[in-house]
Amino acid sequence: MTNKLKIMNKLIKFFVKHIPRPILIRFSFIFVALARPFYYGRKVECPICKKHFRSFLPYGNRGASNRLCSGCLSLERHRLIWLYLQNFTDFFDANLKVLHIAPEQPFIYRFKKCKNLNYQTADLLSPIADMHFDIMKIPLDDNLYDVIFCNHVLEHVEDDFAAMKELYRVIKPGGWAILQVPIDMQRTVTYEDKTVTDPKEREKAFGQYDHVRLYGLDYSQRLESAGFEVENFDINKYLNPELIARYRLNKSELLYIARKRK
Ligand SMILES: [Zn+2]
Repeated sequence: MTNKLKIMNKLIKFFVKHIPRPILIRFSFIFVALARPFYYGRKVECPICKKHFRSFLPYGNRGASNRLCSGCLSLERHRLIWLYLQNFTDFFDANLKVLHIAPEQPFIYRFKKCKNLNYQTADLLSPIADMHFDIMKIPLDDNLYDVIFCNHVLEHVEDDFAAMKELYRVIKPGGWAILQVPIDMQRTVTYEDKTVTDPKEREKAFGQYDHVRLYGLDYSQRLESAGFEVENFDINKYLNPELIARYRLNKSELLYIARKRK
């Protein structure tokens, strides 16, 4: 790695650690556009924006290297979801009614452009979302959507079982959802302790200051208890290790595809 790139990586890690998240999100496209020239190259490639770089940008609490695409702001999980949608579903062809909760930047504008989708977004607060509601109490009718995305949300929600039941209720029979959460693969049972409320204590216990639990390998069962049938999609079965490395996917990350029976 060149000195310039090392300095840039350090600078980005510093920004990510010290600038409040809402400001980072708001100005993220400017930050990455400024950083992009330092990452020119061909070693990694983003399947979403199709751009290639010497490496992706650092990201996360610990500023781990080579994670965030400076072309479209995708992380490992977004690139994995995109590959799944493109190669294993009819998402980009079929006429589908889609609800995207807490819509992620690499997807929102691309999904909005898809003529086959009737695409709606929702968030508790975000001004860019079409609807605003709490997912523990969704103010919508039953059986409305063919597809729902709700990624990295449930770990923030006080009563995730109520939220899962609500998501199940508004999805059409035969519809499906992608419901990713951070999972501690060493943990068999989800760890929850409602007495832990201090942000610093939550960070220690659950991995982030605003998380209210740490999911374990029982996550699928939790979704099943809300009514879903759950399929674990493992990209390792379909892509060779070279491509997984080139796209910088997380090899141990499974997709949780939750279906409502017809
Ligand atoms: Zn990208």
